Amino acid sequence: MNYKKVDEKDIQFLVSLLGENRVFVGEAINEDFSHDELASIKRMPEALVEPLNTEEVSQIMKYANENNIPVTPRGQGTGLVGGAVPLHGGILVNMSKMNKILELDEDNLTLTVEPGVLLMEISKFVESHDLFYPPDPGEKSATIAGNINTNAGGMRAVKYGVTRDYVRGLEVVLPNGEVIEVGGKIVKNSSGYSFKDLIVGSEGTLGIVTKAILRLLPLPKKAISLLVPFNSLEEAIETVPKVIKSKSIPTAIEYMVRDTILSAEEFLGKPFPDKSADAYLLLTFDGNSKEEVERAYESVAEICLEAGALDVYISETQERQESIWSARGAFLEAIKASTTEMDECDVVVPRNKIAEFVKYSNELQKEFDIRIKSFGHAGDGNLHIYVLRDELGQEEWDQKLKDVFDCMYNRARELNGQVSGEHGIGFAKKGYLCESIGDQYLTLMRGIKATFDPNNILNPGKVVG
Ligand SMILES: Cc1cc2nc3c(=O)[nH]c(=O)nc-3n(C[C@H](O)[C@H](O)[C@H](O)COP(=O)(O)OP(=O)(O)OC[C@H]3O[C@@H](n4cnc5c(N)ncnc54)[C@H](O)[C@@H]3O)c2cc1C
Repeated sequence: MNYKKVDEKDIQFLVSLLGENRVFVGEAINEDFSHDELASIKRMPEALVEPLNTEEVSQIMKYANENNIPVTPRGQGTGLVGGAVPLHGGILVNMSKMNKILELDEDNLTLTVEPGVLLMEISKFVESHDLFYPPDPGEKSATIAGNINTNAGGMRAVKYGVTRDYVRGLEVVLPNGEVIEVGGKIVKNSSGYSFKDLIVGSEGTLGIVTKAILRLLPLPKKAISLLVPFNSLEEAIETVPKVIKSKSIPTAIEYMVRDTILSAEEFLGKPFPDKSADAYLLLTFDGNSKEEVERAYESVAEICLEAGALDVYISETQERQESIWSARGAFLEAIKASTTEMDECDVVVPRNKIAEFVKYSNELQKEFDIRIKSFGHAGDGNLHIYVLRDELGQEEWDQKLKDVFDCMYNRARELNGQVSGEHGIGFAKKGYLCESIGDQYLTLMRGIKATFDPNNILNPGKVVG
C-alpha cells in the first residue's frame, strides 16, 4: 500500500483538534510506542495522538481516511503479536487516556467504560460493589479495549468463558469516521448479523472502540485453590481430561513445571509454596459458601490422587492463594528475563489433545537443539509455548524459530486446533492463520475488512491485511 506521509499540514490539523500537548512527533515520541510486548516487530509512528473523547477519534479517522494516512489504535501495548505496532508509520492513536468508568447499572448488571480503563481497575471497582467481571487475563495492566480487540482469555475461561462472553455493547468509530453502536444493555439479540461479536477480536482492524458495556455477575463469596504436584508433566496433563470428564467445573486449571516456577521465584524474589515435584496442576474452585466449594473440589482431588498426584495442597487463605497466583502471573516475564529474545505459540487444541501437543513440543527441543518453555491454561486447551533464542545468531535463530513454529502449527492443525487461543494474530501469526483457515474463509474475512475499511486505512498489515 502506498500511504501519504504525515506532513506539516497534517500535524497542524491534529494540533488544531487536540492541542499541542496531545500530539507528538519525532523525538517527542517515546521508543516504547514502536512495539508491543513481542518487541521483535518495531516501527515508529509518524505522529502519536491522545484523544480524550469519541468526537476526537471520529475526526482523526475521518481526516486520515480522506488523506490516505494509516491509523493504528493502541491500548497499553501489552499485546504479544505486534497488533498495536504502526507497521506503515502514520498516526498511532493512544486510547489509554480515555480511561473513565462511566456507569455502573445495578438494575441491568452492566458496567459502561471508556476504552482505556485498565482491567485491574475494573475488577477492583466492581468487586467493591459485590459484583464480578470474570475474564482474568494474566496482564492486569492491559486496557479493556485491548482485551476486547484480542478477545482476551485468561485463567477463568474454563468456567466463565472469555472477554467476548462479557461484552454487551460497544460504541465504535468506523474507518471513515462514522460512529456506530452495536449491541447494548440487552441480554438477548437476534437482530441481524452480530457486529458486536465481529468487532470483539478484530484487533483494531475494523473500527476503534470508544465505549464498552460489560456484563457483570454477582461476586462469588469464596474461592479455594488446589496445588497438585506430579512426578512428570505428562502425568499432570493427562489428568486434565479426567477432571473435565468428571463434570465438576473448576474456575481455572493451569499447568506448570518446576523449571518455570524457579524462574518466577528468581524474578519475583518470593518463594513458591512447594517446588519439590517436577510438574503441577493449579486449580481454583469458587462458589458462595465454603461447603459448596469443598463439595466441588473433593471429587477432583480424588481424581488427581488416583491419576498419580503426589499430594493435594489446599490453599484457603487469601495470602497463600496470592503467593501461588502471583508466581503464575509472572511466568511470562520470568521466562522472558531468562533469555535474549523469545517468541510464543499460543495455539488452542481440544482439551483431550493437550497432553499430546505438550509432549510433541517438548520433543522439538531435542530435535532442534533449542530451549522451549511452556505453561498454560490446561483447562481450556490453550497452551503458551515459548521458543528461546539464548545465544543464537540472527540467521540461525530466524531459521530455527520458523522450523519449530512450522512443526507446532502443523501439529495443532492435525489435532483440530486453532492458531491463537487468546493473544490474536496481529502481524506475527498472519502466515499461520492463512495456512490454517483455507481460501474460502480467508476470502470472506478479506471481504469483511474491505467492507468496513475500503481504503485499508485502519491498522493495515494485521490479521488478514
Ligand atoms: C505478562 C503478560 C501476560 C499476559 N496474559 C494474557 C492472558 O492471560 N490472556 C490474554 O488473552 N492475553 C494475555 N496477554 C496479552 C495482552 O495483555 C492482551 O493481548 C491484551 O488484551 C492487550 O491489551 P492492551 O491494552 O495492551 O492492547 P495493545 O497491545 O495496545 O493492543 C492490542 C490490540 O488491540 C487493538 N486495540 C487496542 N485498543 C483499541 C481500541 N480502543 N479500539 C480498537 N482496537 C484497539 C490494537 O490495535 C491491537 O491490535 C498477556 C501479556 C503479557 C505481557
